[in-house]
Amino acid sequence: MFDKILIANRGEIALRVIRACREMGIMSVAVHSTADSDAMHVRMADETICIGPPASTDSYLSFPAIISACEVTGAQAIHPGYGFLSENARFVQIVEDHDITFIGPTAEHIRIMGDKITAKDTMKDLGVPCVPGSDGGVDTLEDALRIGEEIGYPVIIKATAGGGGRGMKVAQSADDMETAYRTARAEGKAAFGNPEVYIEKYLTTPRHIEIQVFGDGKGNAVHLGERDCSLQRRHQKVFEEAPGPAISAEERAAIGKICADAVARINYIGAGTIEFLYENGEFYFIEMNTRLQVEHPVTEGIFGVDLVREQIRVAAGLPMSFTQDDLEINGHAIEVRINAERLPNFTPCPGKITQYHAPGGLGVRMDSALYEGYSIPPYYDSLIGKLIVQGRDRPEALARLNRALGELIIDGIDTTVPLFHALLQEADIHSGDYNIHWLEKWLEQAYNQA
Ligand code: ADP
Repeated sequence: MFDKILIANRGEIALRVIRACREMGIMSVAVHSTADSDAMHVRMADETICIGPPASTDSYLSFPAIISACEVTGAQAIHPGYGFLSENARFVQIVEDHDITFIGPTAEHIRIMGDKITAKDTMKDLGVPCVPGSDGGVDTLEDALRIGEEIGYPVIIKATAGGGGRGMKVAQSADDMETAYRTARAEGKAAFGNPEVYIEKYLTTPRHIEIQVFGDGKGNAVHLGERDCSLQRRHQKVFEEAPGPAISAEERAAIGKICADAVARINYIGAGTIEFLYENGEFYFIEMNTRLQVEHPVTEGIFGVDLVREQIRVAAGLPMSFTQDDLEINGHAIEVRINAERLPNFTPCPGKITQYHAPGGLGVRMDSALYEGYSIPPYYDSLIGKLIVQGRDRPEALARLNRALGELIIDGIDTTVPLFHALLQEADIHSGDYNIHWLEKWLEQAYNQA
């Protein structure tokens, strides 16, 4: 087992990894930019090292800064968290070339899954059901129009290198195709340096269902059921739950097995998420994320496992600490993402926290790097906390969410907390009757915004 792990991240996820290290008796090293000198992850780690100026390109994303930090501190492994370098195949390669262990999948698997066209081809070959669409990339507008006719409108044009909801455009009919096609290509090129796009049937009322998988890199893999992350704004998740209110035990077992078998066959190592759209009882693969997800705590809650601990174990060459038969669902868990954003437009709202009180009690978990007096810097992601609640069933989890939100105090800045208070008033949230478009429509009505 490692003696010391460096965490190449900040905020709540850096804390999450430090906590797992501490329970395992492993020393943790926090890296930070000059803007984060007084951040909570710096206060909580065993060792800290400043790796550069505020801009993440010169600090949290800097390969030389992070590799040198490992060398200076003697850390044997790097945990990347999510975001930043977590899905950067070139970084993983360089880490390995320096004889440092990357806690995550191989550079090759990251590369395959990071290119959505290659990912889809690979998954199709592994027997995973996919959204009908173009066979690979679409290089001309004429081809795009022909494929649109073949699969039927509406269609979605997606940048193969896209991510975080960017590089996707919907064409409702052939008339929209030219604009959608050109915009998706331009966004792919501008944001990810790659204009290649592909086309998929646009599903009109799907749910976003993702399967958590975990492999040991030696041909063994399990699944840990699904998360329903259908409540999204601009393709970004805001509320996640497990198990999915629309998924039966039989469906879970069937799609879970397909996913676990697929990753076992490629000797996948560590945590991964296979994302699907789910409509009329069918699953359609959209992409695989080769890292720990923001919303992993809902899965940890219902299965009672520590996914970060497992990531560290398999990276050190140990077996997973559970088999598929050991994994049993207990109750229901919900996570809400608390962002430093001002409603109704979700404008980033960094600033000083004048008062902070985290909720507690049975079935409540608050993953956050906030503290009273802390100033949220303007340079990074606006996610400042995740409130995760668990109950014996969904109604109990919802009641607990309501109670916990009532206890939470974050003063000094605006947050997305009022959104969750409002959502809990909605009958559809209580019945679980929502799809990926529900929240956008609700926001339009509630806040009269486009
Ligand atoms: P990203 O990598 O940017 O997160 P994804 O491929 O995971 O992109 O898609 C993100 C979201 O976009 C999905 O959760 C869904 O809301 C929407 N989406 C993607 N593909 C389709 C599709 N074929 N039909 C309808 N919605 C889609």
